[in-house]
Amino acid sequence: MKNDRKDIRALTKKQLQEFFVSQGDKSFRGSQVYEWLWSKSAHTFEEMTNISKETREMLKNNFVINHIRVDQMQRSSDGTIKNAVKLHDSLTVESVLIPTPKRTTACVSSQVGCSLDCQFCATAKLKRMRNLNPDEIYDQVVAIDNESRLYFDKPLSNIVFMGMGEPLMNYNNVMKAIEKITSKEGLGMSPKRITISTSGVPKMIKKLADDEAKIKLAVSLHSAIDEVRTKIMPFNETFPLKDLKEALEYWYAKTKSRITYEYIVWKDINDNRPAAQALVDFCKAVPCKVNLIEYNPIDDGHFQQASAEATAMYQNMLERNGITVTVRRSRGKDIDAACGQLANKSA
Ligand code: SAH
Repeated sequence: MKNDRKDIRALTKKQLQEFFVSQGDKSFRGSQVYEWLWSKSAHTFEEMTNISKETREMLKNNFVINHIRVDQMQRSSDGTIKNAVKLHDSLTVESVLIPTPKRTTACVSSQVGCSLDCQFCATAKLKRMRNLNPDEIYDQVVAIDNESRLYFDKPLSNIVFMGMGEPLMNYNNVMKAIEKITSKEGLGMSPKRITISTSGVPKMIKKLADDEAKIKLAVSLHSAIDEVRTKIMPFNETFPLKDLKEALEYWYAKTKSRITYEYIVWKDINDNRPAAQALVDFCKAVPCKVNLIEYNPIDDGHFQQASAEATAMYQNMLERNGITVTVRRSRGKDIDAACGQLANKSA
């Protein structure tokens, strides 16, 4: 019997209401339980104090509540917090809380490992083990929201899908999680405060535009020259820049939402004028801004951050062409919590 019990959080609100009706109860009971599961983040049926004891027993006989567990929390000298998160099947992902004076941002994972093969990213070395379920994504956000209130005295303000995994390769579950995060029965956050960062899967960017998700889009570009991009992000062979550009034009036409390009300048890879010019040209396709991000070394040492002059050259060329550019410094490097460093080392 025990093994047959289903994860109750895999049910939609409607399915939960229907379950109660099928048990001879009211559909309203389903709404109450749903609220416990999501906005109140109950970990056990016992906590559901406005539900009768018999009903709680019945639920226990039929369902389990799978919940993530923050296994280990590390704090960086700059305030950044990294959670190693244990899933119900003992796999681990990581999520990060990044505090700044104005906001606290949760950087969450969407997959265990990653489907893609970016040569400079520690997560890619893990390969993809499985997609995260909507509740596993949602729980990471709740855990970070709690930490934000506890350590910084304010609720979480922003979410970025820049943890482990490629969010657009786990599209349905990411969208279901966002629905919960933004709904009143969940956290009630505005979708405008949520950014999906993708390495650029054209078909899924178009789908995101069609679904009118109202979230922000960031694209990890790193090179606007196909031969170079394919070397560092081999899947670019399958999804070349021409297709990416077309998908981004489609996105902008539908959403009117400006795109952010994330770009790392590496020594001997893209630290030259033609590469910067190619980026400037790519940026003309749709309204955008560029985040020049610092490279966080991963252990294999093939990639090296370019000189400060090379970064300044990019900055100047972009600015001269009227493109907004910011240079982003890494956070949480001392605890391997920075972009591209998430590889479950502490697990
Ligand atoms: N798969 C998604 C989200 C996860 S990666 C994506 O590619 O966007 C989040 C960001 O970290 C991306 O911009 C990615 O290019 C960047 N990143 C990966 N490895 C990095 C590294 N070693 N140093 C700095 N940034 C890195």
